[in-house]
Amino acid sequence: TGGRFSRKTCPFPTPVDRAAVENIVKPFILDDAVYKRVCDVMLDNFNKGLGKETNAEARVKMFPTYVRSVPDGTEEGDFLALDLGGTNFRVLLISLKGQEVNMESKIFLIPQHIMLGTGIQLFDHIADCIYKFMKEQKIEKKTLPLGFTFSFPCKQLGLAKAKLTTWTKGFKCEGVEGNDIVQLLHEAIKRKGDMEVECLAVINDTVGALMSCAHSDRQCAIGLILGTGTNACYIEKLENVGLWDSDYNDPKEVIINTEWGAMGDDGGLDFLITEYDKHVDKHSINGGKQIYEKMISGMYMGEIVRLVLEKLRRNGLLFGGVGSEELSKRGRFYTKYVSEIESDVDESDFKSTKQVFEELELTNYTDEDCRIALYVCSLVSTRAAYLASAGIATLLNKMGRKDVSVAVDGSLYRFHPHFHDLMVEKIEKLVTPGIRFKLMLSHDGSGKGAALVAAVANRLRDEEAK
Ligand code: BGC
Ligand code: MG
Repeated sequence: TGGRFSRKTCPFPTPVDRAAVENIVKPFILDDAVYKRVCDVMLDNFNKGLGKETNAEARVKMFPTYVRSVPDGTEEGDFLALDLGGTNFRVLLISLKGQEVNMESKIFLIPQHIMLGTGIQLFDHIADCIYKFMKEQKIEKKTLPLGFTFSFPCKQLGLAKAKLTTWTKGFKCEGVEGNDIVQLLHEAIKRKGDMEVECLAVINDTVGALMSCAHSDRQCAIGLILGTGTNACYIEKLENVGLWDSDYNDPKEVIINTEWGAMGDDGGLDFLITEYDKHVDKHSINGGKQIYEKMISGMYMGEIVRLVLEKLRRNGLLFGGVGSEELSKRGRFYTKYVSEIESDVDESDFKSTKQVFEELELTNYTDEDCRIALYVCSLVSTRAAYLASAGIATLLNKMGRKDVSVAVDGSLYRFHPHFHDLMVEKIEKLVTPGIRFKLMLSHDGSGKGAALVAAVANRLRDEEAK
């Protein structure tokens, strides 16, 4: 079990080689008992995070969000949205009119020196991008409400007040952790001058995914991101949220941003961590953190595969022992290669795989090498899909609802050819019998979701003013 190709049918050159290959990839092949144990660890983490007394020491923080009213269709007007946290930074203009939603957006690059620079530089850059975008759209004279999808762990103190607890993924800007990012954004907008933009809401991308699906599907109660990073949010009963200490007790449910990527940071997943995972963690900019995320998400998957391929090569089991400078570079094997290689189906001519090999300047490869590379990719991505499934199954079991739709977004889920099917198959195995679920692709929650939340906040504010 575990791989897409059963070990029996994978024809490697000689029996000896095959055993040696198997020996190297073996740690990625885990049986259901292991995934069940992941569910147990996950549930433990969830409960610890939700408990008033245990939250302080919990790694999985289970942040209550302040998104509590959904759009009722009467929201109207133009709204800006920001989407920061993945591969791209986007500024969006969203026009709402009843059920009608129109969007314009632009992608801006965040150069690495800014991702690793100071918070002031980062937010000045963001303000510059907003300004450029407004000029281009000829809306620079307008006063616009803004919704901010900020895809990092934040302790929310209000709908428009969110303190970053810790950077994740590729970001590490000085002077932001512990601070309110809305305040930092507003200060930068003020420094820039010449524009009237007010941020009314900050949301996590998981919440955006959930909101944008819940718009059309009443069963939608989980938001899941499988992209550069991974995380999930879900609808929890207020009575289960020990942390909730507001007297604002209506409605009786609250969206919890789990920040599940941090599972394992306390050693709780050591029973399945491989040497490759340890290597990836050690060379990351946030060592010891986001352990579960590093076994699953797009920022790390390609690198895990590269490390395995390199080990096979060093052992003379791949490329006749001869690699390339490109293959030896950290981070050079992109996660999109995993998706490309895996779209070569069995018995094919390995068209995509060979193309990836060419890009990596590998010249000395055979069909056997292609087959082995495909096998490695499938093992690593299958483990990722199954681990994410354990997380979703734990949420489904905990929620105890009969029918749940899961809104999913992120580049990994979108572009990997088998991720969806692998997840459905494994969640079915891990979930309590009787619970039914659907995994639905969420369309641009990070853009639309943030605008919708800002629109609701804007409507409520207007109503209050009346
Ligand atoms: C962040 C989450 C985010 C996820 C997906 C993680 O690294 O901590 O807040 O939802 O990535 O973007
Ligand atoms: Mg995103």
